[in-house]
Amino acid sequence: MKPIDTLSLSGGVKNMIFERLQQQLDKREQAHQYRRRRIMSTPQGIKVRIGGREYLNFCSNDYLGLANHPELKKSFKQAVDRYGVGSGSAHLINGHSHEHHALEEELAAFTGRQRALLFSTGYMANLGLVSTLLGRNDTLFADRLNHASLIDAGVLSHARVQRYAHNDMDALGEKLAQCGRGEKLIVSEGVFSMDGDLAPVADMAQLASEHDALLMIDDAHGFGVLGKTGAGSLELAGLDAVAVPVLMGTLGKAPGSFGAFVAGDEVLIEALINHARSYVYTTALPPAVAAATRTSLRLLQTESWRREKLAALVDYWKQGAMKLQLPLLKSDTAIQPLLLGSSEKAVRVSRHLKEQGFLISAIRPPTVPNGQARLRITFCAEHEQAHIDRLLEVLDTLFTKESILKAADA
Ligand SMILES: *Cc1c(COP(=O)(O)O)cnc(C)c1O
Repeated sequence: MKPIDTLSLSGGVKNMIFERLQQQLDKREQAHQYRRRRIMSTPQGIKVRIGGREYLNFCSNDYLGLANHPELKKSFKQAVDRYGVGSGSAHLINGHSHEHHALEEELAAFTGRQRALLFSTGYMANLGLVSTLLGRNDTLFADRLNHASLIDAGVLSHARVQRYAHNDMDALGEKLAQCGRGEKLIVSEGVFSMDGDLAPVADMAQLASEHDALLMIDDAHGFGVLGKTGAGSLELAGLDAVAVPVLMGTLGKAPGSFGAFVAGDEVLIEALINHARSYVYTTALPPAVAAATRTSLRLLQTESWRREKLAALVDYWKQGAMKLQLPLLKSDTAIQPLLLGSSEKAVRVSRHLKEQGFLISAIRPPTVPNGQARLRITFCAEHEQAHIDRLLEVLDTLFTKESILKAADA
């Protein structure tokens, strides 16, 4: 296998569109925003192997350490023996298996809602959901830092989009008050994926009710991790289905599996089954994925020690990082970014950390706003304090004793 870094883009078919692509790629490279994949040769975990070398991993979304859990693997294998690999069809033809259906019922019960519906990915869930809820004459109120899938969902819905400053409830209230026509949907992440801070969901629910707006929360990074039983940001905030009628969650992050769901009232779910194009016109997840996810749901509810340990690790990290005056953002979750500013600096620090055996990816525009490139450090319940000590040590050297950070930020 060729290492990805050395793949050559030269040669191949001559074509104006390809030439334009080449120019765009060159521009990205010059802006230190070129993206490359790394080839993993181990399961997801706190220690991973890439290119023959082991790294301490601080960049996955496997917050609870479930992605490679023996019980998930066992359920997956048993379901493969029973159902085979592919679902072979869309849910509405004959791809909807017993495992999918049971998982939906369990998700509805877990999130305290009438129904839940599985989608193949969170990206598709958001596209299908927003475009089912809204039409041309409606308005989507979206936090400025919302995930790309929510932005794309707004575009696809043809609704008017009003973006408000991050977590700024005064701004949201003003925009809601000014909106004169059509229906209103407020959409926010529960835990912001690149910042780690929480949306003020209780205030949002209040505003939604004052302005007759519907509230939808994408809890990709809260589901499984937050709340007493792991039901997410809304459980943490003590909000029910009346306060937040539309909940979307993903299953590929804390639950360690794959896929996503929407939970809410019967009418919402039936409308999605009938109208959400990203639900109707796609193949159902493999039933074994649903079976493994059911085991994950059971584990994450019963093994609350994973959430408790994760929270303790985050505390430990924050104390150490504050002592070293690292450029932390205001986050209490497992997402603990260090703000670096330029893409060049973020790439340089990430590369340096990799040389030292730490895997932490540089997050650059357009994923984050210009000038706000960062290292996105994430923690997992499988980490130990000793791992954090090692990370703090290398960051201390980098940020205080070495010139790597001071070197030309121009
Ligand atoms: C990851 C993510 C998604 C997409 O979920 P996938 O299942 O990975 O497609 C949607 N919203 C947010 C906030 C996310 O972080």
